[in-house]
Amino acid sequence: MKILRAEHLGMCFGVRDAIALALDTAKREPLTILGDLVHNETVLTELRARGISFQNEAQAVATPTVMITAHGASEKRQQSARERGLRVLEATCPLVHVAHRAVTKLVADGFHPVIIGQKNHVEVRGLTEDLAEFDVVLSAEEVRQLRERPRFGVATQTTQPVERVRELVQLLRNTFPRSEVRFIDTVCRPTKQRQSAALELAQRCDVVIVIGGAHSNNTHELVKTCGRFCSRVHHVQTAADLRTDWFFTDDTVGITAGTSTPDEVIQQVEERLNEFQTRLTEKLKLIPA
Ligand code: SF4
Repeated sequence: MKILRAEHLGMCFGVRDAIALALDTAKREPLTILGDLVHNETVLTELRARGISFQNEAQAVATPTVMITAHGASEKRQQSARERGLRVLEATCPLVHVAHRAVTKLVADGFHPVIIGQKNHVEVRGLTEDLAEFDVVLSAEEVRQLRERPRFGVATQTTQPVERVRELVQLLRNTFPRSEVRFIDTVCRPTKQRQSAALELAQRCDVVIVIGGAHSNNTHELVKTCGRFCSRVHHVQTAADLRTDWFFTDDTVGITAGTSTPDEVIQQVEERLNEFQTRLTEKLKLIPA
């Protein structure tokens, strides 16, 4: 069994910085994080163990300080926290700020904003909650059902696959040929790097292991991307989810991971795969020639 890591994988700088800020703040004062900081249970358990609380609404926060996650939040939501007298700490990723600025610019220039992303994702809520009018689309059907507007302004959730985004923008142009469509690509660079590295990996492997939280959007996208070139793709949250019967002795096994997966979890998965490899080799030695 040969084990390969994707060229780009795992935790991005935005998530890393947000976790560092939360841990640092929690050393000095009680802290509540508004929403999930990351969609990864291993990380969340570690943060809870350091006394950090999580709440979805500012009304429920019981500490004087609240932190906005790397996914960002609308001005409305931040304002409601300030009005309750809370100190608001910002851990919004700079690349999420780029997406916010893109949407603001599109609206200021007179375009009807269309976000390509998941309706209920915290980042998309942050991008849209301050807008008077907007649409969120993720499928061809949703694009076709849009009401015609003279000017559509498209931006994306930062973790969407580039290819899907391009297809949907083209479909929007084809469906509404009389409309002006302006597109600002706000898919972040770490997502693009992880997606293209996963694609490249899947083409070289018999099996791909994608590590990430059960609710992590970008991890699910990595699973789909790898599935286009490899028929044996398994999503695991930790090394404990790996099963020996997924592998054969002469398999090339690829590892990739979502942007909220900690390095230790990737390391543990790789170690476990190495153990499987040793076991499979030992078994082979026992088979008479
Ligand atoms: S996935 Fe991209 S936008 Fe989101 S936190 Fe990471 S670097 Fe920032």
